[in-house]
Amino acid sequence: MIQIVNSIPAFDIKKQYTTIKAEVSAAVLEVLASGRYIGGSLVEGFEQQFAAYTGVSECIACNSGTDALYLALKASNIGAGDEVITTPFTFFATAEVISSLGAKPVFVDIDATTFNLDLAQVAVAITPKTKAIMPVHLFGQPVDMTALMDIAKTHNFVVIEDCAQSTGSSWRGQKVGSLGHIGCFSFYPTKNLGGCGDGGAITTNDPVIAAKLRMLKEHGQKTRYIHEEIGVNSRLDAIQAAILQIKLRYLDIWNHQRRIVAARYDQFLSQVPGIVTPQELAGGMGVWNQYTIRILGEKRNWVRSQLQEQGVNTMIYYPRPLHLQPVYASLGYEVGQLPVAEQACDQVLSLPMFPELSEEQQDQVIFSLKNFRIQESGVRSQESESIGWS
Ligand SMILES: *Cc1c(COP(=O)(O)O)cnc(C)c1O
Repeated sequence: MIQIVNSIPAFDIKKQYTTIKAEVSAAVLEVLASGRYIGGSLVEGFEQQFAAYTGVSECIACNSGTDALYLALKASNIGAGDEVITTPFTFFATAEVISSLGAKPVFVDIDATTFNLDLAQVAVAITPKTKAIMPVHLFGQPVDMTALMDIAKTHNFVVIEDCAQSTGSSWRGQKVGSLGHIGCFSFYPTKNLGGCGDGGAITTNDPVIAAKLRMLKEHGQKTRYIHEEIGVNSRLDAIQAAILQIKLRYLDIWNHQRRIVAARYDQFLSQVPGIVTPQELAGGMGVWNQYTIRILGEKRNWVRSQLQEQGVNTMIYYPRPLHLQPVYASLGYEVGQLPVAEQACDQVLSLPMFPELSEEQQDQVIFSLKNFRIQESGVRSQESESIGWS
C-alpha cells in the first residue's frame, strides 16, 4: 500500500500563489500606494493584454463571469419573449443570466463523450423566438465552433461563448472567446486564469457591441452622470487587474502543466474497467479546468467516499442538471427528457487537477482508483494488487 502522507486537495490555490508570491505582493502594494483602486491604467492594460491573448480587438473587464454573461446578453438585446439555447450540464450562472433578463433558457442535451452541447440536437430546439445560443466550453474542452457557427449563421443567432472554464483553450488554432460573437470569461480563483477575488471579462471583435458593453457595465453612462440605459456596476478592481496581468504571463505554462497531468491520468486510467476517461475532440486544444471521469455501475458516490477516506478529494460537477432545478420547475421539463445530461450527473467525478499537482499525488489518485476494482465488485479490495507502473 502507498503510504498516505498528506491528503490531496481537488485544487490548491495556495500552492500556486507561493510560486509568484514576490511578484504579486509587490504589485498589490503598488496599487495600494497609488490610491487608484478603480479603473486606470492597470485595468486598461489588462484589457489590452487579454484581447491580444484571446485574438480579438476588444476586451471589456468586469466584476465576474456571471456579469460577463449577463452583459453580453443584454448588449445583444436579449430579453422578455426571447429564447436562448444552452446546455443543462453547466454551472447555474449560464442559465440564470438568461432568466434574469426575462428570456427563456431552452436546454438541449449534451454529447456523452465531450459533456458539451450536442449540436445535432440543436435543430429540434429552434423556434421563431430563438435569438441566441450559448455554448459552454465545459471543463476546458472547446465546443466544435465550426459546426456551431454554421448553425448560427443559417438561423441568424447571436453566439455567446461561456468561456469561464476554458481560458486559453482553442478550436482549430483559434482561442475560445474569439470564435463566437461575444466571449465571456471568469477569473474566479479556481478557473485557469484566476484572480484573488471575483473578476471577469468580455471579448468581441464588434466595436459597436464593445461600446455598448462599456456603457452597460458603468450604469448605462458613456459620459459621466449622463445615463442612457439601465446598466449595472460591474468593474474589475485595479488590484485584481494587477494580479491578473502577472498571472496571464504564466497561463500557457500552467495550462501545459494541466495537460501533462491529464495525459498521465489518461495513461493509467483509460484501461481501468468501470472508469471512462474524458476524450478530446480532434480539432480542439483543451485546458483541463477539470479532469472529469465517469464511474459506471452506479458506484460513483461509493468511489468518491472511498477516495475521501484515502485522502483523495474529488468534486462532482454537476450533481443536478439545470432543467431539473427547483427554480426551473415552471419550464416543465421531466426526468428522462435530457437523458445524457442526467446520466452524466449520476456518473461524473472530477479528480484533483491543478498545474502544481505532483506526480506523487497523481500516483496516489491513480493507485486508489485502480485498487477499487469498480467493475468487479462493490466491495473494496483490501489487499494491494501489484501494479506495473509504480
Ligand atoms: C464559474 C462559471 C461561471 C460564473 O463565473 P463567476 O465569475 O463565478 O461569476 C459561469 N459559467 C461557468 C461555466 C462557470 O464555470
